[in-house]
Amino acid sequence: MSKPQVAILGLGIMGGGMARRLLSTGFSVRVYNRRREKADSFAEAGAFVAGSPREAASGAEVIISMVADDTASRAVWLGDTGALAGASRGSVLIESSTLSVSWVKELASAAAQRGCEFLDAPVTGTKPHAASGELFFMVGGSASALEKARDVLSVLGREVLHLGPNGCGALMKLINNFVCGVQAASFAEAMALVNASGLDREKCIAVLANSALASPLVKRMVSSMAANDYTPNFPLKLMTKDIGYAIGEGASNGVALQTAAPALEIFKQAVAAGLGDQDFSAVVKSLAKG
Ligand code: NAP
Repeated sequence: MSKPQVAILGLGIMGGGMARRLLSTGFSVRVYNRRREKADSFAEAGAFVAGSPREAASGAEVIISMVADDTASRAVWLGDTGALAGASRGSVLIESSTLSVSWVKELASAAAQRGCEFLDAPVTGTKPHAASGELFFMVGGSASALEKARDVLSVLGREVLHLGPNGCGALMKLINNFVCGVQAASFAEAMALVNASGLDREKCIAVLANSALASPLVKRMVSSMAANDYTPNFPLKLMTKDIGYAIGEGASNGVALQTAAPALEIFKQAVAAGLGDQDFSAVVKSLAKG
C-alpha cells in the first residue's frame, strides 16, 4: 500500500524533527514554516516547501500542525491562506501542538464543516524523541480518523493512545504538563534554598538526583545545571503557556489548580528575566543564584 502524503505545519524543535523522521522513512512530505528560511534545509532533504499552510495542505492526506500555541494554531489553520482552505475532503487533520481544549474543539468543528476528520494528538517526549519516532501521542477524536492516521502516527511515535472524543488528548496533555511545571518550579525553589543556606551544593544535588524526587524531569534539570547548558529542548515560554492553559481547563471543570498558580508566577518571572527562549530547566536560574 502506498504511503499517504503528509503535510507538516511548523518546523520548530518538534515539527522539524517529525518532518525529518517522515522523510527518512520514505514519506512524501509537504512542509510550511512561518519563517521560510527555516524550511530551506527540508527542501534539500526532499520535502516540498510550501509558501502558505494552504499550499502545504493541498493534496495531503494527513495534515499535522506542530506550532507554539493557540494563536499560532489559528494562524496556520484559518483564513484564506490557512490549511483548512487547502485541505481536501476526507483528509485527516491533526493538531499535535499543546493547545487549549476550547480552541481544539472549535477547530474540530471547522474541520467537520470542511468535510475533514480531525484529531487532537499532542505528545510527550522532546527533541530527540521527535527525531527518532519515539513520541507518545495522546489522541482525541473518532476511532475511524485515528485508523486513517495510524500509519503516520506509528512512524512518529512509540505509543498512540486513544483517550476519547476531540479534546481528550489536549486535556490530558495539559494535565501532564502542569504537573511537570509544578515539579520544575519546586525544584528551582529547592535550589534557591540550597544556595541561600550555605549547604554543600554538589552534595545536595547528588541527594536530590538520587532520591524519590529524581524523576526524568528533575534529572534533566540536574544535567542542564551541571553542564550549564540551557539550549532549548522544550522552551521555557512554552512550559509557561502550558501551565496557564491548564489553569484555565481546571477552572472550566470547577477545579482550582492551587499548586499550578504559584508555579505559573515563577515561570512568568523567568520569562520576564529574559529566559523564555532557553530550556524550561533555566527556571532554576531565575530563582537560584550561583
Ligand atoms: P518551537 O521550536 O518554538 O517552534 C514553534 C513553531 O511554531 C515554529 O515553527 C514557529 O514558526 C511556529 N509559530 C509560532 N508562532 C506562530 C504564529 N503566530 N504563526 C505561525 N507559526 C507560528 O516549539 P516546539 O518545541 O517545536 O513546540 C511546538 C509545540 O509542541 C508547542 O505547542 C509545544 O508546547 C509542544 N511540545 C513541545 C515539546 C518540546 O519538548 N519542545 C514537547 C511536547 C510538546 P517560526 O519558526 O516562524 O517562529
